[in-house]
Amino acid sequence: MNTLKGKKCNSCNFLMLEPSFACPSCGSDSLTEIEFKGEGTIYTYTVVNVGFGHLAAKAPYVLAIVDLSEGLKVLTIVEDANLQSVAIGDKVKFKHMDERHEPIFQAA
Ligand SMILES: [Zn+2]
Repeated sequence: MNTLKGKKCNSCNFLMLEPSFACPSCGSDSLTEIEFKGEGTIYTYTVVNVGFGHLAAKAPYVLAIVDLSEGLKVLTIVEDANLQSVAIGDKVKFKHMDERHEPIFQAA
């Protein structure tokens, strides 16, 4: 099973994706590992037609900020999205971590 793992700050309850070693909100290093449901909606997005670096072969693709149901926003690529009809508010779900350990989502 592909699960989207993250951490929750024991001090201020801030949510973050792995890898995180200290809370970006309060600086505490007291963190608990959690698993996100991996469900979210597109908060904002852009269609990238010319990729660069390791993403060049993926272009065109949808680069989006996804608002997870837990309230955390994640910058991610949405695979299998329809480039003509993708829209803010579309439901997406976590697919897998890529080879660089960055999360990849897909249309739900
Ligand atoms: Zn914190």
